[in-house]
This record gives sequence, C-alpha cells and structure tokens, in this order.
Amino acid sequence: MASVFETNLATAERLLTRFRDRPLGHFIDGREVPGQSERLFDNLSPIDGGIINRVHAGNAADVDAAATAAQRAFPAWAALPGTERKRILHRVADGILARAEEIAVLESLDSGQPIRFMSKAAERAAENFRFFADRAPDAANGLSLPARDHLNFTVRQALGPVAVITPWNTPFMLSTWKIAPALAAGCTVVHKPAEWSPLTAMLLAEIMAEAGVPAGVANLVNGLGEEAGKLLTEHPAIKAVAFVGESTTGSHIMAQGAPTLKRVHFELGGKNPVIVFDDADLDRALDAVVFMIYSLNGQRCTSSSRLLVQSGIHDAFVERLAERVARIRVGHPLDPATEVGPLVHERHLNKVLSYCAIAQDDGATVKVGGVRAGEPGTGGNYVRPTLFTGAHNRMRIAQEEIFGPVLTAIPFNDEAEAVAVANDVAYGLAGYVWTRDVSRANRVALKLDAGMVWINSENNRHLPTPFGGMKASGIGRDGGDYSFDFYMETKNICVAL
Ligand code: NAD
Repeated sequence: MASVFETNLATAERLLTRFRDRPLGHFIDGREVPGQSERLFDNLSPIDGGIINRVHAGNAADVDAAATAAQRAFPAWAALPGTERKRILHRVADGILARAEEIAVLESLDSGQPIRFMSKAAERAAENFRFFADRAPDAANGLSLPARDHLNFTVRQALGPVAVITPWNTPFMLSTWKIAPALAAGCTVVHKPAEWSPLTAMLLAEIMAEAGVPAGVANLVNGLGEEAGKLLTEHPAIKAVAFVGESTTGSHIMAQGAPTLKRVHFELGGKNPVIVFDDADLDRALDAVVFMIYSLNGQRCTSSSRLLVQSGIHDAFVERLAERVARIRVGHPLDPATEVGPLVHERHLNKVLSYCAIAQDDGATVKVGGVRAGEPGTGGNYVRPTLFTGAHNRMRIAQEEIFGPVLTAIPFNDEAEAVAVANDVAYGLAGYVWTRDVSRANRVALKLDAGMVWINSENNRHLPTPFGGMKASGIGRDGGDYSFDFYMETKNICVAL
C-alpha cells in the first residue's frame, strides 16, 4: 500500500498538470485570463529549485482591467442584502472544504510549508469565510446616540473596491483572512498574491466564482510587487489597501497610496519575545517555545523569535531546548513526518543563513544548526533549525526579523529587565509570557509593546478578537468588527426632534 507521503506526491503530480500546461494567468471579471503582455515569471520550487510553472506578470493594463471590473461590480454587490452575501460566503467556505486536499498539497509544494500544518489551511480559511459570513447581515448597523434636541444614529457603508496584497508564508489562509471580511462588508476586491507562492490564489478565485460570487466582485492579478502590486496601490478606483508583508514594503505602499489618499491596513513584520520566568511550568513553556518558532518553518508573523529566559533557569532551559531543536525533522514538505520543510526561495534561504555569520561576528554562539540541510546538490532550500545563544538584545540577530526556523536566546535577571529587553526592538506584534504568578503575568502583559499578548499559551486565535501590531509591526486591527471598521465608512445621521 502507498504511504501517505507517496499518495501526496502522486496528488501533487496530478494537480500540477494544469499549471504546467499553460502559464498561470489572472482572474478578472469572473474568469481566468492571460496577461495583456507576453511577460512571464518563473515560480520556483522550494524543494529542488526547479521551475514549478510560469506565471503572467501583471502590467498596468491587467491591473486596470481588474480594478475597473471591481469598480463596476461594487454597487450591486454592496446593495445586496447582507443575508444574501452571508449565503454566498458560506458556499465559498463549503467550496474551500471540498478542495481541502488540493489546497493543502499545492500550498505545501509552492511555499515549502510542511503538509502537517498545511492540511489545516483549508479548515482555517473556511472558518474565516463562515465567521464573516455570519456577521454580514449586521455589518451596516451602527449606534444610536441621542442628544438634547437631536437624535444621532450611525450606519456603516462599504468603502468600495479594495486591494488585498499578501505574502508567501501561509498564502491561502492569509488571503481569506482579508478577502472574507471585505466581501462580507460589501466591498469588491483585487487580490495580488506573492510572486513566490501564487498557486492557491487561483483556486480561491475559482472557488469563489463557483460559489456564486458575481463576476468582478473578487479579482486576482498575479505579478511582481514592484510592478503589479505598486500599480494596484496607485490605482484611483481602489479605495483601500489591506497589506500583509514586510515593514519596508508597508512604508512603500503608504507612499504609493498617498497621492490617491488610500486607506491602509498593515500587518507587518515582528521580532516577538517569549519571556520565560523561573516560576513557569517549564515543560509546557518548552513545548510552546519550540512550537512557536520551529513550526511553519518559522515563517509566521507571530512566531517568537527571541527567547528571554530568567538567568537562574537559563542554562538548564537552553540545554533542554537545544536537545529538542537538534531532533526536529527536516524534510520534504509533503512527507507527513516532516516538521520543518524547505524555505520558500533560495534568496530567502541565503538571507536566513547569512544570520549565522552575523551572529558569530557579533559574538553569539550557534548552539544548534546554522547550516543547510538536505542532500548536497539537490538544490532544495533546506536549513537546519537553528538556535543562537550567548546573545544580547543589541545584536542584529535580536533586532532584525529573520523569518526562518531561527531562535535567539537572551538571559534576563528580573521583571523590569525582561520588559525593557522585550520592548527594545522596532517591532511590536506579539508577546508571550510564561509564569505562574498571575499578577506578574498581567503587569508584564500591560507593559509589553505588542498588539497581542499570550499568557501561558502559544498563539491561539479566536476570530472576534483584534489581531494586529504596534510600532513597525502594523497599522490597524483585523478580526470581528475591527475588520468592518476598515472595509466600511461610518456615517453619522443627525435628525432634529
Ligand atoms: P513582502 O513585503 O516582500 O511582500 C508581500 C507582498 O507585497 C507580495 O505580494 C509582494 O509582491 C508585494 N509587494 C512587494 N513590493 C510591493 C510594492 N512596492 N507595492 C505593492 N506591493 C508590493 O513580504 P514577504 O516577504 O512576501 O512576506 C514576509 C513578511 O510578511 C514578513 O515580514 C512577515 O512578518 C510578514 N507577515 C506579517 C503578518 C502579520 O500578520 N503581521 C502575517 C504574515 C506575514
């Protein structure tokens, strides 16, 4: 009998046929279309560096066609009763679940993320659609604010066509996290997925069309960030940009969107601390520390890439951690036994590996890993899970987002120092605190520069809660009503009594 790995490989071969037959195009006004220029780019495999498929590089004409389609479709979609949008979006969720295996396998192949994590991608994505579908009927409801001689009430109205620009780390799930609330709010969308992992965005476009999302409501333009992405952020029909990606790209987008006064929502980089106090449940803390940086190839925005450990337990904790890190299984992303897969692109692999030299130059120790993994000469972007020790917070390995399976351990003496070190970075996305002292946990949580803090927990998402970062980690929040505040205008109506 074929193993799960062999079955996955066979499924991958079958699914890739359509992408090999013809270059991947765009999805505009209800159908897949080729690019209006002949220009293509290669989508490379993280597994062996070979070409997975070729992709049309969207140009100004493609972006304009998509933005214009979104603009045309907007009035009717926004005017549709919320109950009808709810019905359609639940059908999108059904469609995602029906193609869950296809999504998981293509996402793993394209991004290098292990199948053990990607097999949950469709479930999470479907949940994003269901959550916002259920809220669509009430999205327009505002507040009633009576005054002395007047009655004020507020309503919310969909903003217009919006751009959704997403990164390569968990592309399918992340795009649904933006597109679902936009559609529920009554906005129309032009999505520009990352050029390093474009495959599953087309599946989502197809699923939405099959579920009854009308033509022009959800469009997709493939292409390079500096070209298609930039043009989209500058297009006058686009009213807002929901962007997930690097902080520097966020600041470019802000400048690009300034002449047309785009509303922006940014989910950007992070250098998240996990703080382990000496009274913590150390077994649970250790599991969480390992999971939150070495799962998903360390390529998740909320990964805790800085481990701050209290001095008294530092050496013992780091020794136990090192043993665990050395045992992590690196391998083919479609093998269910794999814990860390290949990184998405050779350029990213080289960036991640460059931090080993940087660490040593700055005086830190490469305690585990720090080298390529996999068969020499096979071209895959494999790296050994890496642990840096002997570090302090001013080192580059403690300040810069590496975005790989790489952790920097830093000792601290007391609560005040832990908070000071945790906050001494440009970023402020997430923080994790491990202690049995409830008062201390809450004191530290309140003081952390982070949009989200988890106490005695790994990253645990509950969709109504706000998701987003402070400082260089972002602008705005997603989740629950926070998403509708971005994708909708709030209007106050004042009536004399
Ligand atoms: P990136 O910024 O390089 O690219 C993201 C997207 O922006 C891609 O689609 C790219 O084509 C596009 N782009 C690039 N330049 C552009 C421009 N000038 N105008 C418009 N679009 C442009 O990011 P990445 O390397 O793909 O992703 C990794 C980053 O994403 C990390 O920094 C990570 O922390 C961040 N991220 C953040 C969150 C969060 O929720 N805060 C979630 C996931 C990833």
